[in-house]
Amino acid sequence: MKLTVVGSGDAFGSGGRLQTCYHVAVPGEEFLIDCGATAIIGMQRLGLEPDKVSTIFISHLHGDHFSGLVWFLLHAHYISRRTSPLTITGPVGIAERFATAADALFPGTTAIKLRFDMQFIEYADKTPLVVGGVEVTPFEVRHPSGAPPYALRLVAGGKTLTFSGDTMWVDNLLPAANGADLFIAECFSFDELPGYHMNWQVIARNLPSIDAKRVMLTHMNADMLTRSVELDDPRVILAVDGLIMDV
Ligand SMILES: [Zn+2]
Ligand SMILES: [Zn+2]
Repeated sequence: MKLTVVGSGDAFGSGGRLQTCYHVAVPGEEFLIDCGATAIIGMQRLGLEPDKVSTIFISHLHGDHFSGLVWFLLHAHYISRRTSPLTITGPVGIAERFATAADALFPGTTAIKLRFDMQFIEYADKTPLVVGGVEVTPFEVRHPSGAPPYALRLVAGGKTLTFSGDTMWVDNLLPAANGADLFIAECFSFDELPGYHMNWQVIARNLPSIDAKRVMLTHMNADMLTRSVELDDPRVILAVDGLIMDV
């Protein structure tokens, strides 16, 4: 499983990073995990072809995680003239939230007659869903975003990758990451801050219980980015835009 970090930033542009988007390639299949507003920019920087992406797995319905679907669609229709089907999975209501965003940003988008089939599939908590060669199991987390938010456990190419999505610490993250080859965890801040995000202190406390081979921190704010040099756990790696790793 080849992972490319397309965007590892938070919603505020901290560190000049692009918004959340991960590209994963396994033999015969390419997919995205989340699609922030800047996803298509990041993919083009890295030479990744949007048309090869068959599925986009969305964790939750905040703009820095799903709004890039609008530009992905415009690129597919007007630039690459995509013909291959595209599946998008996400929380209940994702099709309506996408349509609202698309028509607000580019009026008339939902009336476009596409050359490709685009289908939305909604998650059911802890219910595995198989799309193409990928099995995704959503685990509900805690992060108000107008629809249930999820951590996603993805199994493909014989490897398991878990993404926390955005969330404060919830114990559901443990089964989601259990036995994973890589757990990508949002770590918004270094110290505890009020709000619905994780921080390094809470992740460090829970690291002994997280049964994943490696833990990649992402979605870091400016303070976390600065203080990340203080981390010295050999299991923990830091996401950065453009990072490519063999999971
Ligand atoms: Zn976010
Ligand atoms: Zn969020």
